[in-house]
Amino acid sequence: MDMTSKKNIDNRQIRNSENPRRKVYVTEPALPPLSEFLPYLEEIWSSKRVTNNGQFHQQLESALAEYLGVEYVSLFSNGTLALLIALQAQKITGEVITTPYSFVASTHALNWNGISPVFADIDPVTLNLDPKKIEEAITPETTAILPVHVYGTPCNIDAIQYLADIYGLKVIYDAAHAFGVEREGKSILNFGDLSVLSFHGTKVYTTFEGGAIISHDSAMKKRIDSLKNFGFADEVTVVGPGINGKMNEFQAALGLLQLDYIDASIEKRMKLSAKYTGLLGKVHGVTLLKSDKNIRHNYSYFPIFLDTLSFPGIRDKVYDVLKQHGYFGRRYFYPLISSFPTYRGLPSASSKNLPIAERMSNQVICLPLFADLEESDVDNICTIVQNTLV
Ligand SMILES: *Cc1c(COP(=O)(O)O)cnc(C)c1O
Repeated sequence: MDMTSKKNIDNRQIRNSENPRRKVYVTEPALPPLSEFLPYLEEIWSSKRVTNNGQFHQQLESALAEYLGVEYVSLFSNGTLALLIALQAQKITGEVITTPYSFVASTHALNWNGISPVFADIDPVTLNLDPKKIEEAITPETTAILPVHVYGTPCNIDAIQYLADIYGLKVIYDAAHAFGVEREGKSILNFGDLSVLSFHGTKVYTTFEGGAIISHDSAMKKRIDSLKNFGFADEVTVVGPGINGKMNEFQAALGLLQLDYIDASIEKRMKLSAKYTGLLGKVHGVTLLKSDKNIRHNYSYFPIFLDTLSFPGIRDKVYDVLKQHGYFGRRYFYPLISSFPTYRGLPSASSKNLPIAERMSNQVICLPLFADLEESDVDNICTIVQNTLV
């Protein structure tokens, strides 16, 4: 496609300029028709079963296991509690190697468990933990790796498992972005010891708030289910210091209904992503995320990386100009987790240790992407990005 033809459109001519109060955010949830949710509510009202493994909760656990192609699903009230419990369930202690290029909850979950986070640098193409850097960060205190499938791009699963096997480490994936992602037809949630999902309103599949742990054997699921319910194993036996992480019937019912629409929603995201790629793929100074043929993506985010070396300050300039036109991209993931006051004092948090993560973090903008985003908005956004680069 000839991109130069677009350059004669001035930013002022962009339709959204006529209505600067119209705001388009980085994402918005895809919600089913309200009328289809009402029968679920009537059922909850008449059964008076509102939480504690009710019928919708049970149905959603099996429906998700089937949809995702995994063995065991344990639902949670949100993804962060699921991360906390995943680490508890695996009795992780000492040091855990993780990525600075993620949402802050990944590292907070370690902190809340009294575990020392150790940051390792990322791969510049996948934005996920670089296995070589993981290996360099291993010490006698290391007990586990907490990688993140950032933007839904699978980590280097095989290399990570290889390290885990030879060094005797657990692997707990923060799979908050990876709902429905498959590699060679198999869910990536089947890898590692546990994987954790988030169903927050900003995620591809949402129950407003919610999350899940994917486990691979029934004893582990039982342990997780007990830990999220105060440690109760049965009516009178408490087997550990549990917490309340339960998903309620309202969320579970919504989750069931959402499953009817998730494929259509991912399909719409795919089309919009293809349009973005067509318009921005050849623009000088813009790098896009690579996609791999053997991966079924979920198109959860559309990050672009702006060449701040050739065009100093360009990332924040593009971000600001988009905002002036009502397009609210987000600089996910900037700042790095390792630069927040809680973590920046750690030896592994130094920029010298994390040059790639730092560079990518300074170059990224996630452009608006959600099922009901209009194609004309994609056109406008791409025109703004291009005009700002020249
Ligand atoms: C959203 C998210 C979480 C937290 O999930 P919540 O459901 O919001 O608690 C954790 N990790 C990553 C990478 C996320 O994007």
